[in-house]
Amino acid sequence: MTLSSRPTSSGPSWTDLDVRADFPLLSRLENGHPLVYLDTAATSQKPRAVLEATDSFFTVHNANVHRGVYGLAQEATELYEAARTTLAAFLNAPDPRNLVFTRGTTEAINLVAHAWGRYALRPGDEIVVTELEHHSNLVPWQLAAGATGARLRAVRLTPEGRLDLGHLRELLASGRVRMVAVAHVSNVLGTVHPVAQIARLAHAAGALCLVDGAQAAGHRAVDVQALGADFYALSGHKMYGPTGIGALWGRAELLEAMPPFMGGGEMIETVEIGESTFAPPPLRFEPGTPPAAQAVGLAAAVRFLEAIGLDRVRAHEAALLERALRGLDALPDVVTYGPQGEDRAGVISFNVRGVHPHDVATFLDEDGVTVRAGQHCAQPAMRALGVDATARASFGVYTTPEDVDAFLRAVERCAAFFASA
Ligand code: PMP
Repeated sequence: MTLSSRPTSSGPSWTDLDVRADFPLLSRLENGHPLVYLDTAATSQKPRAVLEATDSFFTVHNANVHRGVYGLAQEATELYEAARTTLAAFLNAPDPRNLVFTRGTTEAINLVAHAWGRYALRPGDEIVVTELEHHSNLVPWQLAAGATGARLRAVRLTPEGRLDLGHLRELLASGRVRMVAVAHVSNVLGTVHPVAQIARLAHAAGALCLVDGAQAAGHRAVDVQALGADFYALSGHKMYGPTGIGALWGRAELLEAMPPFMGGGEMIETVEIGESTFAPPPLRFEPGTPPAAQAVGLAAAVRFLEAIGLDRVRAHEAALLERALRGLDALPDVVTYGPQGEDRAGVISFNVRGVHPHDVATFLDEDGVTVRAGQHCAQPAMRALGVDATARASFGVYTTPEDVDAFLRAVERCAAFFASA
């Protein structure tokens, strides 16, 4: 990681974070151009520290964890458990035993929807999501509702794309809501939702609150105690860690009361042919051989982010976002979505008028600029915004102001090309 010595006087779009050289993949070319990677919201690139930590686990420490009594196995177990402690501290979770490693956010939310849902939900109970949710924070609740007779409701968006908290209050007034499940940061709009306030409203109505932190963790400081929610889910691969690892943090008393989601080795206390008793959390929810190398890689990602400082990461993304929004607003054929001028993470959904977002993404790729196009696993959100699909640019610690400028030039070229076509 290096700090450039650029002056601080060039306005709010200036940012001094320059860690691009720590990410080997970013030195490759895309269609003959330097790669401008603007799809961090789909998955982040990995810094050398993460690649080395994962590699070193397999090269030097590899053994199955929580099983062997020999030294190597204990070493691997210690590294795995140390990764849990590192991630728990990163989230300001009071006790690492309440942090369950999962494959990612999707599995973490399914865990709650199925384990908590199956034992807690009754016919007529209500689960509240929002129109903006990623399918990962919607479909598991549909399945849980289908299995239990509970009913799913969704908080509307205001015309500007904010969550309508008045509507949330109305839904909570039914007195039947048991769970409010909401994204911390929208993967479509980048908007940061008032999750602490939403958790308070949920609790006042006797409901629990689950926060989908897939787009927040790694982009801003997350303090699960300050948020006051009951569950927090995240994905390692979106916060500079490996794929195949994520986490669910949950309140101790809730995790302890929940039955297992999946059965298998190491999640049990005793096993008879007819029945079993289960280990306490977190192992109750981690059946089978866990992705230990990936957990160790995720801990390296946490250390990488902490060395930069989460406030700096957030300020960096805010500066890039402002630069990009200002540039897009100056292009008459470009529409951007979501409320402006408020706390947003580095995610922008946009369209070039009259051009399908897939064509925009393909056009930009010719210039080495990679953006996502489509419905972003959020079809109800697309309907609520009144669009079929959008293009999406998203930033990370390695994104530079020059990347943003290359993106703006490519979008301008794209708009001009299709306008004259
Ligand atoms: N929620 C949100 C808001 C997301 O952006 C994503 C990933 N696009 C997910 C959940 C699912 O994450 P994963 O695929 O890593 O399980």
